[in-house]
Amino acid sequence: MTKGSINVSVENIFPLIKKFLYSDHEIFLRELISNATDATLKLKHLTNIGDAKVDYGNPQIEIKIDKDNKKLHIIDQGLGMTAEEVEKYINQVAFSGAEEFLDKYKDAAKDSGIIGHFGLGFYSAFMVAEKVEIITKSYKDAPAAHWTCDGSPEFTLEAHDKAERGTEIILHIAEDSTEFLEEPRIRELLNKYNKFMPIPIKFGTKEINDPEHEPKTTKDEEGKETTEPHRQITVDDIINNPNPAWTKQPADLKDEDYSGFYRELYPMQFEEPLFNIHLNVDYPFNLTGILYFPKMSNDMQIQKDKIQLYQNQVFVTDNVEGIVPEFLTMLRGVIDSPDIPLNVSRSYLQADGAVKKISSYITRKVADKLKSLFNNNREDFEAKWNDIKIVIEYGMLSEEKFFEKADAFALYPTVDGKYYTYQELYDKIKANQTDKDGKLVILYASDKDAQHSYIEAAKGKDYEVLLLDSPIISHLIQKLESTKENITFARVDGDHINNLIKKEENTISKLDEDQTKALDELLKEVISSEKFMVQLEAMDSEASPFIITQPEFMRRMKEMQQTGGGGMFGMGGMPEMYNLVVNTNSDLVGEILSTKTKKKQERLINQSLDLARLSQGLLKGEELTNFIKRSYEMIK
Ligand code: ADP
Ligand code: MG
Repeated sequence: MTKGSINVSVENIFPLIKKFLYSDHEIFLRELISNATDATLKLKHLTNIGDAKVDYGNPQIEIKIDKDNKKLHIIDQGLGMTAEEVEKYINQVAFSGAEEFLDKYKDAAKDSGIIGHFGLGFYSAFMVAEKVEIITKSYKDAPAAHWTCDGSPEFTLEAHDKAERGTEIILHIAEDSTEFLEEPRIRELLNKYNKFMPIPIKFGTKEINDPEHEPKTTKDEEGKETTEPHRQITVDDIINNPNPAWTKQPADLKDEDYSGFYRELYPMQFEEPLFNIHLNVDYPFNLTGILYFPKMSNDMQIQKDKIQLYQNQVFVTDNVEGIVPEFLTMLRGVIDSPDIPLNVSRSYLQADGAVKKISSYITRKVADKLKSLFNNNREDFEAKWNDIKIVIEYGMLSEEKFFEKADAFALYPTVDGKYYTYQELYDKIKANQTDKDGKLVILYASDKDAQHSYIEAAKGKDYEVLLLDSPIISHLIQKLESTKENITFARVDGDHINNLIKKEENTISKLDEDQTKALDELLKEVISSEKFMVQLEAMDSEASPFIITQPEFMRRMKEMQQTGGGGMFGMGGMPEMYNLVVNTNSDLVGEILSTKTKKKQERLINQSLDLARLSQGLLKGEELTNFIKRSYEMIK
């Protein structure tokens, strides 16, 4: 038996390990299973190239709880270690690795996030164990070795009679970590970190119906059928899927494989994803994965089921901030890359060149996929637009490259359920919807019901009205106006009515100059100039007599303030100011003018104004009550 002392400077490593990763103690299991996986895959490689003349077989990794003796076993059938290798890899390499890691990051302990993932390796076992044993037999022809260490730098190393190849790690669980002797807790960890690791992981056994046995059905005299019960057999409970969908080639996967994998990832999600994007690069970095567009509602709720980051099929984190562009963090799925540096801080991650490349690759890939979905099945794409627009619009706002690419597939739906690309919309309205300066005016509604009368009026003039109702739409509109040449957006109930070039027949006023002047004076007398800017317009006689609009600019600034950003103007304390457009060609206005008594004229004006306010949802409280009372009086 050898006794020894591990590197002196390492004296204080155990208390540090315990303290440092306090909240992350559970990762010890992932680390030990990763080592077991590495050892198995290394053996596979050696047998493949003919360097190990042993039978690889069907190795698995077993996790065993021995609650009575407070032990947890991790057993693999990998390449094992000789006594010399234990000396080298455990006593020297692993220790120096742990030491270096702690040295580097102990000051950054507060910057948790990704720190604490990986790096400590084998010695993370001491976060939960007061004593660790390794019993290992190499695939090489050498006796098995038994290493024991109780957490002090002293260890023992002796021969062991283990006959089968592989390594068994025995953790003597410490008093404060007995949770790791509970079956449900270990199952939870295996599910979280090891669900897709490449070697089957056995955790106990389970009963299943014997697939070899077909239960017999018999009929009695009365013809009643009885089927005998299934025969039960006991099998290993393998907790992982060693070949998850993302590790396969897209060509080998069908739609149901993708939706099956989605369910595997998020067993509690009952809704089908809208579509998926299979990521697969090997140059200039390695990255695989599958992203899913979930069905999404307008309120960007914080999601529980997030994108998961793996490194060679080992779960690392579901905080992918910095790696996946922000607008895509609303998606679900997995990404797996050995090239993402894990044991570094988030700020470092964001500045890292490789990570930036990964992020822009993902953006590009998502844009390409959206484009091909649009091209291949436009109808389907349109049907899904409402569920995906938030992501796309957010992407257009936040990523310049995505904005450019999205021009090909971003859709602008109309109130009648047609969908235009920007170019199609442009071609459609360029002849008919320009203002006095020759600018293209894109009309839109944000609420079909609330703006119904305005939409109808605009449609009556053959204007195309879009339905843009995302919460961030005012930001996107602002961006489109500043990128596209010579266009302006105007909400249907806004002041565009004065800006759009009117058709010839509507511009001739029925009133002469004197009448117009008289009307103007009368209106200004009755209507408060603090609330309404009265404008006389000669419109189609069928159009509403009184129309309230709000200046586009003012309304949009307010909206943008509400949804963040754009707050450079102090719009908070701005008074509500509306335009009141009075249609001088309407019959009612003619009647107001010809009415004899002042009192009656005032009544007509106030009633009309209230109707206009009512249609904008501006009449409330006492004013609304009074209006309704008055209206009943009138029809009595
Ligand atoms: P890393 O896995 O990053 O190399 P670890 O501290 O986890 O660092 O492990 C140190 C070394 O110990 C490994 O590189 C490997 O050589 C050896 N080792 C650990 N666990 C096993 C195992 N189950 N089978 C064979 N070798 C192992
Ligand atoms: Mg390791």
